[in-house]
Amino acid sequence: MTELRIAIVGFGKIARDQHVGAIAAVPGATLAAVASRNASLPGLPHFATIEELLEKGPRIDAVSLCAPPQVRRAQAAAALAAGKHVMLEKPPGTSVAELDPLIVMAAEAKRTLFATWHSRHAPAVEPAREWLAARRITSVHVNWKEDVRVWHPGQAWIWEPGGLGVFDPGINALSIVTKILPKPVFVTAAELAFPANCQAPIAANLTLTDIGGLAITAEFDFRQTGPQSWDILVETDQGRLTLSGGGRHMAIDGKTVAEAPDEEYRELYRRFVTLAVTGASDVDLAPLRLVADAFLLGRRTIVEPFVD
Ligand code: NAP
Repeated sequence: MTELRIAIVGFGKIARDQHVGAIAAVPGATLAAVASRNASLPGLPHFATIEELLEKGPRIDAVSLCAPPQVRRAQAAAALAAGKHVMLEKPPGTSVAELDPLIVMAAEAKRTLFATWHSRHAPAVEPAREWLAARRITSVHVNWKEDVRVWHPGQAWIWEPGGLGVFDPGINALSIVTKILPKPVFVTAAELAFPANCQAPIAANLTLTDIGGLAITAEFDFRQTGPQSWDILVETDQGRLTLSGGGRHMAIDGKTVAEAPDEEYRELYRRFVTLAVTGASDVDLAPLRLVADAFLLGRRTIVEPFVD
C-alpha cells in the first residue's frame, strides 16, 4: 500500500491527544509535517501556516485540519487547490453552505474531502444502530453536559461567532443521533442560553422529531460540574437502550451489551486512507444542519457572563 503522507494543520489539544497517535497506529498513514503558528513536534518539519507548508514543505499527499472551525474553509480550499486530500475535524465548517464549493473543488480535483464525526466511530454506536433498526422507537433523550473549564480551558474561539459554544460537544451527540436513528430528524424548537459576554450559547435545549412524529429532546450544558454526562436514552417497544460515555458503552434495560476500547480516531484515519486511494469524498452535513437550525429557530436568553 502507498503511504498517505499527512500534515496536521493546527497543532492544539485534539491534534496532540488523538491525531498523532492515531496516524502512527494506522497502516498506510504517515505524519510528515506540522503547520501551526506556535506549536511543533520534535523531528518533524514545521511551518507556521498552511500556505508556507504548501509552498515550502516536504512532499505531502494530505492535510488533517485541526484548527478551530473559523479558519477551516480557507485552509481546506488552499489544500484542495494544491491537490491535497483533506480531512476536516468536526464541525466541518462555521456555516452549512461554505462546504458546497469545497465539495465541488474536491470532486473536480479527484481529491478526498472527508468531514469527520469522531463520535460516530465510538464502539457502541454501530451496535446501537443495529439494535434499534429492528425495534419501534418511542422516544429519544440526549443528556450531554460537561464542564467547559475542564475540557476547553482557554479556548476563546469557542465563544466567538462560528465557535458553536455548547454545540461544540453537542454536535457530537447529534452526529450519533443522526447515525443510529432510522429516519432523518429535524429541529422543531430550541432554547439557547447566551452568556452576556459571549457570541455562542453556554446551554441549549432542543426539541426534534422525524416524519413519524418521534419525540426527541436534547439538553446540552457547558456548566456541568461533578459527574459529566454524554448519554443518549432511547425507549423502544422492546426496552430502553442507553448509550453512555459518548457512545462507548451500550446497555439494554440497564444491562451492558456492548463496550470496547476507544478506536475513534484510528477508525477515522483508516477511512481517510481508504477514501484517498480513489479520491472519493465523504461529507455528511446532517449534524451541522441541525445546529444551524437550532440557531435559526432558537429562543434566546441572556445569562451571566462567562469567565474562564
Ligand atoms: P485548540 O486546542 O484551541 O487547538 C487548535 C489549534 O489551532 C491551536 O492550538 C492553534 O495553534 C491553532 N489555531 C487557533 N486559532 C487559529 C487561527 N485563527 N488560525 C490558525 N490556527 C489557529 O482546539 P482543539 O480542542 O484542538 O479543537 C480543534 C478542533 O478539533 C475543533 O473544531 C474541535 O471541535 C475539534 N475537536 C476537539 C476535541 C477536544 O477534545 N478538544 C475533540 C474532538 C474534536 P497555533 O497557535 O500553534 O496556530
